[in-house]
Parts: sequence; structure tokens; C-alpha cells
Amino acid sequence: MRVAIVEGDGIGKEVIPAAVEVLDALDLPIEKVPLELGYGKWEKCGVAIDEKDLEILKSCDCVLFGAITTPTDPNYKSVLLTIRKELDMYANIRPIKPLPGLVGVTGKNDFDLVIVRENTEGMYSSIEEIHDDVAYTKRVVSRKGSERIARSACKLAKDRKNEITIVHKSNVLKSDTLFLGVCREVAASEGVEYRDMLVDAMAYSLMSYPERYDVVVTTNLFGDILSDMSAALVGSLGLVPSANIGDKYAFFEPVHGSAPDIAGKGIANPIAAILSMKMMLEWMGYEREAALVESAVEFSIKENITTPDLGGSSSTSDVGKLMADHIRNNL
Ligand code: NAD
Repeated sequence: MRVAIVEGDGIGKEVIPAAVEVLDALDLPIEKVPLELGYGKWEKCGVAIDEKDLEILKSCDCVLFGAITTPTDPNYKSVLLTIRKELDMYANIRPIKPLPGLVGVTGKNDFDLVIVRENTEGMYSSIEEIHDDVAYTKRVVSRKGSERIARSACKLAKDRKNEITIVHKSNVLKSDTLFLGVCREVAASEGVEYRDMLVDAMAYSLMSYPERYDVVVTTNLFGDILSDMSAALVGSLGLVPSANIGDKYAFFEPVHGSAPDIAGKGIANPIAAILSMKMMLEWMGYEREAALVESAVEFSIKENITTPDLGGSSSTSDVGKLMADHIRNNL
């Protein structure tokens, strides 16, 4: 397997080396292909990602990615949107599951849900216009895009509780009338139980009763917001991993961004990046190794070797090193 390793910007340069240290401890036949992309590259070369980078990404089986700074400069084209579209990775899978011994804002730890976010259209269509007094962003929802994300959610649901919650705003947005209708059709044809929730009511309900949900499927922007919000349910944005899956490629990244407020301080929590690497191992079929990575994460929490966001005083690299040692001792 060939894996492109993209650290990106800010804390990406800290959490990805920690995840790679843990990966290396597993001693698997994986070829790592380092690639520089992002704002740092844009500052140096005037381009954040080019055709050659896309070719390298496409020559790999998958990507392990840190985070990228996206400036508000209208001339800057989002690297992530480019990659997700070019590699057509339409399903963004974001598990929200508390780790043993940790709780978030609600104090609850009896839930285990997954947000399945459509990744290629919706408000992130990139069809935009900005003028002096008005700006437009076109929200695109297609039958094809809705159908394939609904199928991804149903596939996941069949290995879990066989139910999905479709999140939308169809009382206001016509595009969501299509999304909701297609998701219902797909769920019915797949034999998966379904219900639906308006996104505003869902935001409240998720924070109050996360245990009521299992697989949640929604459009691009709603999924982005609900998943960052749900990070508060598990205790830190630094704990939530994600996978972007298409029919051909896959891309694994923490949900968090480049966190310029803490970048360079060595205190970023590497667990989201390490659990994203664990999702990569599962995708590759290395189930036993993935379980070992999860046990290493649980071990670091049990030993209280954690970064300050979890109340600890360890550094990003201390946490990575402890987990790598744990894996070597238990291989
Ligand atoms: P952010 O996710 O970078 O940070 C939000 C808050 O969470 C900050 O206070 C930060 O310190 C904290 N945080 C994030 N990750 C953490 C970790 N691993 N450990 C401890 N604390 C952590 O969001 P932001 O500040 O809104 O965005 C910063 C930059 O990142 C922006 O340029 C944004 O566009 C970009 N961004 C990139 C991605 C991505 O590459 N996938 C995702 C979101 C935001």
C-alpha cells in the first residue's frame, strides 16, 4: 500500500508525525509518500496544490492528512475542496464515540454515533460570486450525490443498529426537499429504518440526548457544523477522527483544523490524527493492528499521559511516543 503523508499547516506538522510514529511501530508493509500542500506552500510558491500534487495523490492508495490553514483571501482555492472533488471522495465519516474514562460537556458517555456528511456538493459547491454589495453561494443538491451518501449511511447502519437519522432543513430549503426524499427512498429500498430531523432541532437534541442517535446522514455544511459541535460531547476537538471515502480513493484526517492559536507549542492533542490513522488501517483490512492502536490510545488516557485539552501536561510527541512503545510491547 502507498500512503501519501500530508502534514499541512499549523498543528498538522505536530499531530501527523505523532501518528506516523505510532504507524511505524506496527511495522507494516506501507510505503509513505510525503507531500507538502497548503498555506505554507502557497506562501512559498503562490500555489497551495498543483497538478503534480494531484497526480502524486492519485498514485497513492490513500492519504493521511493533518490540517490546512485556509485564509479568507478570495484568490486562495481551498486545498481540501479541490482534493475531495478531484478524488471524488463523497462520504465523510465522522465517528463521535467517547473514549473510556473521558466525558464531554454533557457528562454522558453512553452513546456511540457516526455523522455521515455529503462531501462534494451542498453549500461547498464552489459556485460563488462576490460583488461590492452582494455575494452568492449556490447550494447544489443532486439526486446522484444524495443517493450515494444515503447508500453509504445505510451500508454503515447495517453493521450497527440498522437505522439512520436524516438531517435537513426542507421546511425552508427546496434543495433539502430533494435530499430528504432521496434519502428516504434509499433507506426504504435498503431495508433500513429511518426518521428525519430538522437541523436546528437536531443541534439541540444531539447536545441533550446523543444516546438517541446512531447513524446520522446530512448535507455538507450541516455535517461540518454538527460534527465540530459533537466534538464537545466527547471532550475535545482533538479527539475526533474522520475518513473521506470514495469509490476509488480514501483520505483520513482529524476533524480539527490547523489551530494557529496553539501551533508550535507542542501541546496539540494527537489522538484525532492517531484515530484517523486507525480508520485508515481498518480501511486497508488491518483489523488487529487497528484494535492495537485503539488500545494504545486507551492506555495513554488510563496512564494520564495526555495533552492540556484533556487536563494533562504531556506534549504531543510524549503521547505519540508512549503509544508507539505500547504497541511495540504488545505486537
Ligand atoms: P481549529 O479546529 O483549528 O481550532 C478550533 C479550536 O480547537 C482552537 O481553540 C484550537 O486550539 C482547538 N484545537 C483544535 N485541534 C486541537 C487539538 N488537536 N488539540 C487541542 N486543541 C485543538 O479551527 P479554527 O481555529 O476555526 O481554524 C484554524 C484554521 O484551520 C483555519 O484556517 C481553518 O480554515 C482551518 N481548518 C482546516 C481544516 C482541515 O484542514 N480539515 C478543518 C477546519 C478548519
